[in-house]
Amino acid sequence: MNDSDMQHLRRCIELATEALEAGDEPFGSVLVSADGKVLAEDRNRIASGDSTRHPEFALARWAAENMPPEERAKATVYTSGEHCPMCAAAHGWVRLGRIVYVSSSEQLTVWLTELGVALPPVRSLPIQDIALDVPVEGPVAGLDEEVHELHRRLHAGA
Ligand SMILES: [Zn+2]
Repeated sequence: MNDSDMQHLRRCIELATEALEAGDEPFGSVLVSADGKVLAEDRNRIASGDSTRHPEFALARWAAENMPPEERAKATVYTSGEHCPMCAAAHGWVRLGRIVYVSSSEQLTVWLTELGVALPPVRSLPIQDIALDVPVEGPVAGLDEEVHELHRRLHAGA
């Protein structure tokens, strides 16, 4: 984990904050090429009524449409929260490369349980249980507390 990784992860948290403030859930992701260029970024957009509008899914589709396979394999997806099984599958199907996440799905499950919030309708599984041969790094101590705070804000008063 170097300075550039941290910079991209901070951008994911900014995007997650933007999502929260727009009435969506606090998740944000950035797709970065092998040479360190930000190719695309997105945030959760489920307030539209479509609960599949996760940023990691959007980035996998963007990569499939815009990147040749050899570039996808060398790219990195940074994200505020570990991919859900749907997004991990999309990442695996389009054969993207490394994933770096701030907070894990396991942490999210603990946080939601502590907040007394209903768990999502899709089982929480580690990325490696879904997408094979994808290098995965996370969670990131310190930054994960910022994501925790966004989830507290989401469910405040719930
Ligand atoms: Zn997802």
